[in-house]
Parts: sequence; structure tokens; C-alpha cells
Amino acid sequence: MKFNKTLDKIKTYEAGKPIELVVREFGIEPDQVVKLASNENPLGTSPKVAEAIRANADKAHLYPDDSMFELKASLSRRFGVPEESLIIGAGSDQILEFISRAKLNEESSVLMSRVTFAMYSIYALQQGARILRTEDYRHRPDEFIPMMQAHRPDVVFLCTPNNPTGDATSREDLFAIIEAADPETLVVVDGAYMEYAAAKDPAYRIDPAEILRYPNAVYLGTFSKAYGLGGMRVGYGIARPEIIQALMKLRPPFNITTLSLAAAIAANEDEAFVQKSLQIHRQELPRYEAYARERGFEYIESYTNFITWLFDEERNSSEIADALLRRGVIVRDLASYGMNALRITIGTPEQNDRLFSAMDEVLG
Ligand SMILES: *Cc1c(COP(=O)(O)O)cnc(C)c1O
Repeated sequence: MKFNKTLDKIKTYEAGKPIELVVREFGIEPDQVVKLASNENPLGTSPKVAEAIRANADKAHLYPDDSMFELKASLSRRFGVPEESLIIGAGSDQILEFISRAKLNEESSVLMSRVTFAMYSIYALQQGARILRTEDYRHRPDEFIPMMQAHRPDVVFLCTPNNPTGDATSREDLFAIIEAADPETLVVVDGAYMEYAAAKDPAYRIDPAEILRYPNAVYLGTFSKAYGLGGMRVGYGIARPEIIQALMKLRPPFNITTLSLAAAIAANEDEAFVQKSLQIHRQELPRYEAYARERGFEYIESYTNFITWLFDEERNSSEIADALLRRGVIVRDLASYGMNALRITIGTPEQNDRLFSAMDEVLG
């Protein structure tokens, strides 16, 4: 059967492997599997979120409040931005999709880093757009600005901190790139891991309100990472009302569920849970840096809740990922991104112990 030609160029997104797969394939008990592959919050979710979901358990038959009034009010307070500047998506992924559909067609081009979030190119290819990439995985103004001037891309994706590399773009570099964009170029600042970068170094902290200074930029945030709601699918976009109104035309009604909405409101109000998550992360990340040094391999300095370990020719990331999987530890192999590297979510102290002892066995 023939399908839309744009699909020919798309490689299906490869999600992190689920716990269920390891249970099925290797007969390991579910509570013995350590999943450090999808950058979920290892502490789980706030107890207040679980409470809110339980309190709404008998409302499954009701559509959610489609205006998402309470969630928008809560986000508006948190970021100091007007409610007309907010859009809610089923994950920030859905807002990426709205952006591509709003701006792109067969004549369009998009610009992004050589190694970055895979969904940018997938959504762009769905629209038939051409993908342009920089040489470096880092977001360097001396690469982005000349390419923006030469190609006038319709959308530029800036992922800071960047996934799957874990590095971040300084405020200075990020604003230099945004300011150089043509007024018709929509600049997307994807801050899925911004909470981690902001906690690490203020020079890398971007506030959504700052993005509102620009008529052609949009900030994306998510509840899936630091806020521990990966399974509930809630993200948000922040931009000038003109951009939000365009994206709203593409939003299906009731695009997040009644339970997701209740969960996101509770999560957004529980700052203490996020602070605790950040604190455990700050304490555990150095163990991954020390392990790499001890074993003689490189890593990318991380501004996120994961670390990217880089191997030389003597080691093969796919083989290591496979050997870890057999031991019940799921990590993300970056071979499909053209890197001999592993991306590992920083877990709880116990999960990290398990990862290190499995790595010891694998490396010998
Ligand atoms: C996780 C992630 C997202 C969005 O995740 P959702 O669960 O769809 O909100 C967006 N961008 C990057 C870079 C991510 O890593």
C-alpha cells in the first residue's frame, strides 16, 4: 500500500526499553530491573500527585476542563507569565508537533544541532521539511548564526540542556542565536531539563519570561522529567499570544486527560518534591563522573538528570548496553545517533550502586 511520501524518510522513534521487556526476555523479576534509560524521576512522583490522582479516580467519565484554567493559573504564577502566553500539550512533544504543523511544509527547512532530540526531525519530516544540522552537537553561535543567515530556516530548535548529550548552552550564546534569527524564523527553546541546569549554574538558566521578550520565540517545558510525571503526558509552551493562538488552532479538544490535569496541578504546586529530587541528583551525579575517570573513559559534563559516557574504539556502546540489559539494567545506547556512547539517567543511590556493579562485571 502507498502512504504519504513524507513517511519514507522517517525512522520510527526508538523509545527507551520498558521494564516489561527485560522481565519477558530475561526472566528477571520486575522489582529487580533498574531502568535508567528514559530520564524519568527516580524518586517517582510527589505524594501529593498520587493523592490528586486518587481523589479524581471517580471522574474518569468526565472530560477535563478544556480551558485548563487552574493549571494555567498555577504555571502563570510559577513563571510570572500571562495566561494568554500558555498552551498545554500531551507532553511538550505534542507542542513540538503543533509547531511543525503550524510552520512547516514541503518548501520549509529547519535547523538543529547535529545530535539532539530525535522528535524535532521526525515532526519536521512529517511535514516534508528539509533538515539542516550543525557540525557540532553543542549549540554554538558561530555555527548557528551563519547557517541561519544562509538558509533562513522556518524553525530553529535549541535544546538546552541538550538531550541526549547533557551539555547546556550558556545564556550569552542562547540569546545571541535568538537575536540573530529572522523575524519569520520561529526559535524553539526546549527546556525539558532546565530545572537541572538552573540548579547547577545560573549562567545556564533560562526563564520562560525572558523568552517572551522575543516575538518569534517559544519556550517548551515538561512535567515528565524533574516533576516526575512521565506517565501522565503533560507539557507546556510559553510564547507571545500571537504564536499561542496559532498553535491553539491545531490542538485537539481535551488533549490531556482528567487525571493528567489533576496530577500536573498538584505537581506544579509541590516545589519541595522538585527540590528534593534536585538534591539527590546533585549528590549522585559526581559518582558517575568518578566512575568514568576510574575506568578511563570520557563523559560530557552534565546539566541534566542523565550523563553521557563516551567510549573509545576499544569499547562498543551497543555491546555494553546489551550486557547491562542481560543483568537487568536498562540504559540508552547512542549508536543510532552516530555516537559510541551511553546515556544513563542518574538514579537513586541504590539504583546507581546496581549500575556500577553491573558495569564492573561487564568491563571486567
Ligand atoms: C523528554 C523530552 C521532551 C518532552 O517530553 P514529554 O514527555 O513529551 O513532555 C522534550 N524535549 C526533550 C529534549 C526531552 O528530553
